[in-house]
Amino acid sequence: MNLVEIFELFPTEDACLSFLEQARWKNEPRCPYCKSTKATPMLKENRHHCNSCNTSFSVTVGTIFHNTKLPLQKWFLAVCLMLNAKKGLSARQLSRDLKVNKDTAWRISMKIREAMYESEQRNMLHGIVEVDETYIGGKPRKTGPDDKHHPRGRGTKKIPVLGMVERNGKVKARVVRKDQLQSRKLQQLIRRNVDITNTTLMTDQFGGYIRIKQMMPHKVINHSVWYVDGNTHTNTIESFWALLKRGIVGQYHKVSLRYLPRYITEFCYRYNHRKHEDLFNYTILRGLGVAR
Ligand SMILES: [Zn+2]
Repeated sequence: MNLVEIFELFPTEDACLSFLEQARWKNEPRCPYCKSTKATPMLKENRHHCNSCNTSFSVTVGTIFHNTKLPLQKWFLAVCLMLNAKKGLSARQLSRDLKVNKDTAWRISMKIREAMYESEQRNMLHGIVEVDETYIGGKPRKTGPDDKHHPRGRGTKKIPVLGMVERNGKVKARVVRKDQLQSRKLQQLIRRNVDITNTTLMTDQFGGYIRIKQMMPHKVINHSVWYVDGNTHTNTIESFWALLKRGIVGQYHKVSLRYLPRYITEFCYRYNHRKHEDLFNYTILRGLGVAR
């Protein structure tokens, strides 16, 4: 879906509301409070009256659109813009694109990220899985890699992020605590996310991966010797890190790293659904709580 299609399909608030009603209820409004389907349409503002519990409700109750004062068309445009922004979209840019203030842009982008959240346990990764950690945040380096004040990678104050990706498949990435990169805990994290009976793991030589061989096939890349040794490489996860970092540094550098997990969610979602044929529709369904 692109912006022109959004304008054509959803020219008015009514068009947006009917789309949401169809998606959520298949045209049989169900009271979100008591689940009754005995509802009567009300005259004002596309609301429905529940004849069972005597409340009134609209299709947005309990969804990411709940209580919004912003026209739904702007929400739909925001979803579309975020899905199409491979490198991420700052609140500032979104506020310009939608002609809303920056706080509103920030708030709705955070709500849309909620719809993108996928729980860790769903789908175990399998096949060839590359695992790697990276570090995000901290002050930019002003000098060379030997600068002791701004060292790179392990051992710095940056936030550790662990990523796992199937070759030609899905990615999982999340913020971890430093102690979770110790071998026993790392082993647990991998076990929770990877189907160990059906996977060959590829990592670099980081000591945290030392116990992996005990539970599954494990190939180790020696970056200092040869970058790509046939099939043994971690290029897939490294490309994902590059995309994520370019996005975060480029778009979100002024945003607190407190929200880093949500940006990671957004980048994983776009990556995991890159081949989805109607991601706009699917994302709206998730925002309504219909798809998960
Ligand atoms: Zn009711």
